[in-house]
Amino acid sequence: MTKTTLVPTTERVVGLTRQYFESVGATVRQDGAELTVEFDGVAPPEWVGGYCDRSRLVATVADRAESETPTADSETAESETPTIGPETPFTRRLIDAAATHHPVGTATVTGVPGGAETLVPAWLRASPARVASVEFYPYYDGRVVCAWLRAAVETPSQYQRESLHAVVVDPDTGNRIDCDPTALLDAAESDAGARAVGSESDVERALVEARSHVVAELDETIEHAEDSAGRAAAAAFEEYAERQRARLSERRAERDEIEQRLATIGDRLADATGDDRVELLEERAELTDRRTELNEAVSRIETADADGFPAERERLQRRHSVAVRTRPVAVTTVAVERGDLALELVGDGGRATLDLSVGAVTGPRRTPSCPDCGSEYGPQNELRVTIAGLACADCHDG
Ligand SMILES: [Zn+2]
Repeated sequence: MTKTTLVPTTERVVGLTRQYFESVGATVRQDGAELTVEFDGVAPPEWVGGYCDRSRLVATVADRAESETPTADSETAESETPTIGPETPFTRRLIDAAATHHPVGTATVTGVPGGAETLVPAWLRASPARVASVEFYPYYDGRVVCAWLRAAVETPSQYQRESLHAVVVDPDTGNRIDCDPTALLDAAESDAGARAVGSESDVERALVEARSHVVAELDETIEHAEDSAGRAAAAAFEEYAERQRARLSERRAERDEIEQRLATIGDRLADATGDDRVELLEERAELTDRRTELNEAVSRIETADADGFPAERERLQRRHSVAVRTRPVAVTTVAVERGDLALELVGDGGRATLDLSVGAVTGPRRTPSCPDCGSEYGPQNELRVTIAGLACADCHDG
């Protein structure tokens, strides 16, 4: 098995580190490249012990330039102040610890930290329509599940590729929310020590959804792994078939030789008497047995070959089957306000209003459709405001 690789970006790793420590009840503060974790009234996880000074851990966030070409710091060099970054020993230990316990933390976002403007979806900002005003009307408290998952794409025989994924899921719909998990957690206040909101089964269900989103994200990697596993299996199969055919020729050659010897014995038996005859009869019996064995072996290989060596094919398929394993590393349920984003839009001499159902920080819960033609808005189908009201590129330009 080749060395596993786990190369997420520094930002992702910092987000995960923060989420992990907050989920175990600690307070995390970041000041530039220095990240401080305070364990006030909570016991630090055991593995942190060596890095901890009383109840405080101070770590350095790796340089972004360094993070592009991850280099593993040596364990001794970093034991003083651990480094947070892709592939650092500290991060690896954190991921291992988190994957073992996957603690579920909770956090709350109060209001819309960046202001209602930040909730305007990117596709709308990119459209020719101008946002004249935007107002957020919170109606009720919702929550989202922010999950970090470690995924491995592997076959039983060959390789393992690991990657780290962050997914934000709406537990009510199972939909993935297009929102940066690190930004979400930055905006949230950790409810240190609080119990998770909602039931555990809700979180488990959200994790099942998160897993399927990660598998979808890994589509290309899985396809690549399957191609390469398929090629390896085909090569191994070809080798096996060739070996079997070589064995078949050997058995056939031996059988021909035995046939010849039996014919000779038959000739000699006609004139043999006494001990000679007994010896020849014994030899003939032995050779006949061997011929039966060879006939069986030959027909066994011939049948298997005609059927395409099904047993071996199945064995190789199993050996080269691609599996995706995912493991939650850190999970946080984040309480967010939900409500309507009321937008006033101006364009092409017209004005129109648009109401979007949104979550604070997490943005629209679903993509709206053009009221005129029903096409969904998006980067490929820009919103238009005409004199008649809302339209889209589909029905207005075409
Ligand atoms: Zn339209």
